[in-house]
Amino acid sequence: MAANRPKVPRPLARQLLVEAGHRCAIPTCRATPLEIAHIVPWHRVRRHDLPNMIVLCPNCHTRFDRGDIDRQAMFRYKELLRLSDANHVAPEDSSPRAGLIRAYRLFQNEMIRWHKSITQLALAVVLSSAGFPTGTAERCLRAASVARAAADKLAELGDEDVTEAANHLFDRYRAWADDVFDLKPSVFHRSSRDEYEDERRERFMEFVALHEEVCAALDLDPAELDLFEARRNGRELPAVPLGTRGLWKTGG
Ligand SMILES: [Zn+2]
Repeated sequence: MAANRPKVPRPLARQLLVEAGHRCAIPTCRATPLEIAHIVPWHRVRRHDLPNMIVLCPNCHTRFDRGDIDRQAMFRYKELLRLSDANHVAPEDSSPRAGLIRAYRLFQNEMIRWHKSITQLALAVVLSSAGFPTGTAERCLRAASVARAAADKLAELGDEDVTEAANHLFDRYRAWADDVFDLKPSVFHRSSRDEYEDERRERFMEFVALHEEVCAALDLDPAELDLFEARRNGRELPAVPLGTRGLWKTGG
């Protein structure tokens, strides 16, 4: 029976285990050791996919197979896991909730790129002895357009508070970029370190305000969703050793 049933791929097994915090997914149980179960049985779906799979201890697995725990209940336990791990949006998840998290992360990441390009432009202005650094300015303009498009995409989802917070964040950066393009002396010659830190903090607080609105729309506590997307995002990174002696490497 199990002969033509492929093993659960390691990355998927890991994802399932992490989703359940390496414990039985029944909240009142949380026992170990663990087995991986299909909610709609394997013989009907004949595939391993994240939304239909859950981690259970052998006892709960047996109770599920016997029907002591029914399928609807098991899907509810699965949903609870997914809610508690709001940071993990499966690629095939097309729910409005997943759509909002994706649009939020996209906008946030484009804002971070724009931030970098404004910083680079300001630096290039200071360092350039050959006039306005046109190439760097063009990259900054492009980053602004991409960030604006991402903000519009977020706005399309229709939550007014999220849209307003996203626009505030965008406008704060726009004012900063305007000053750099206008070569406003105050941007390049801060009167004090405190002034610089204040502006940095104000920009950061716009990210926080947006985060709070997104979490409110998702009915999450702001602490349940990471403020910024984890850079690795669960993917395995290739190792790129640097330095000819091969002493320095990371990844994997
Ligand atoms: Zn259990």
